[in-house]
Amino acid sequence: MKPVYLDYAATTPVDARVIARMLEFLGEDAQFGNPASRSHGYGWLAEEGVETARRQVADVLHCDVREVVWTSGATESNNLAIKGAAFANRERGRHLITATSEHKAVLDCFRWLETKGFEVTWLAPQADGRVDPEALKAALRDDTTLVSLMHANNETGVINDIAVLGELCRSNGTLFHVDAAQTAGRLLLDLSQLPVDLLSLSAHKFYAPKGVGVLYVRRHPDVRIEAQMHGGGHERGLRSGTLPTHQVVGLGEALMLAAQQMNEDSLRIGALRNQLWEGIADLPGVQLNGHPTQRLPGHLNVAFSGIDGDLLITALNQIAISSGSACTSASVEPSHVLTAMGLSREHALSSLRISLGRQTTKDDVDRAIKNVCLAVHALTKR
Ligand SMILES: *Cc1c(COP(=O)(O)O)cnc(C)c1O
Repeated sequence: MKPVYLDYAATTPVDARVIARMLEFLGEDAQFGNPASRSHGYGWLAEEGVETARRQVADVLHCDVREVVWTSGATESNNLAIKGAAFANRERGRHLITATSEHKAVLDCFRWLETKGFEVTWLAPQADGRVDPEALKAALRDDTTLVSLMHANNETGVINDIAVLGELCRSNGTLFHVDAAQTAGRLLLDLSQLPVDLLSLSAHKFYAPKGVGVLYVRRHPDVRIEAQMHGGGHERGLRSGTLPTHQVVGLGEALMLAAQQMNEDSLRIGALRNQLWEGIADLPGVQLNGHPTQRLPGHLNVAFSGIDGDLLITALNQIAISSGSACTSASVEPSHVLTAMGLSREHALSSLRISLGRQTTKDDVDRAIKNVCLAVHALTKR
């Protein structure tokens, strides 16, 4: 019997309806043309697929199709947004702000920019994982050109109030970038209302394939960023390279489907997540990490005090979960997100991330509860 997959925050399986859409663009009898080929029908039909997907993304995000830039994923979108905005605006100022609980793809961009003559203010999140708007307000300066803060955290699922944080940036004349890789398709993202200038998303977090993403770049007011990839001038010069048509159409279809079933998905997944929590909350030393309610419905980040997280993961052979974020699972460092929230090294090392998704069933949750209870009892006995 395969272990139950409870690592939907790391990645999701591709939806069958999305695979069907992608297959229309793969193979000799499909629309395999280069979407940039302007001189024949093969190119036009591929381009039509790309533009349909762009329309789907723009509809879900409530933005203009010209504000949607295809990338290879949220890592690239974050790089393009952060480095691109920092360099395009460096004559106006060299001060940037982010938080210590961001994804590595954001943290590493800012660390690199520090070596290139930029000054970075690193905000610590509150104990509940959220960034305090007052702390942002205090950090903003006249020469602050960019703030980057995530919508929901990939490890804890804790949701930042991007409307309030963005308003502070806007009234300071500072660009606001949001890494929304965890929230696209899971929470409403209305860019006609939100004061967000740049927004990253990644297809494989919402039941579409790996290797494709989007950077939203606002046109009103006009947001200037410098391209990081140079070549054929694709994507209005912001991101050169032949578009992976099948990936792009898959992303568009998946985001549209996720938006259509968002309410029923989050109600169902949230109820299962709560059931899982209720099944393990009374175990000795168990504690919930992060804000109890301002949290994505599928996330559960739990500390098992006194138990080593890696030993626990080995004992949890019936469920596929993650200790901290997948990107650091090769090393034994405690989660930088949990330590940023002020949790001790020991507490962080005893914490696990369980994340539920569309395919999770009640039976899966029952099996997970049983496995966790047995493992915790076995490991606390000695
Ligand atoms: C998954 C994730 C990323 C990285 O996205 P890729 O498309 O895998 O490069 C970045 N930020 C957050 C918050 C994520 O969850």
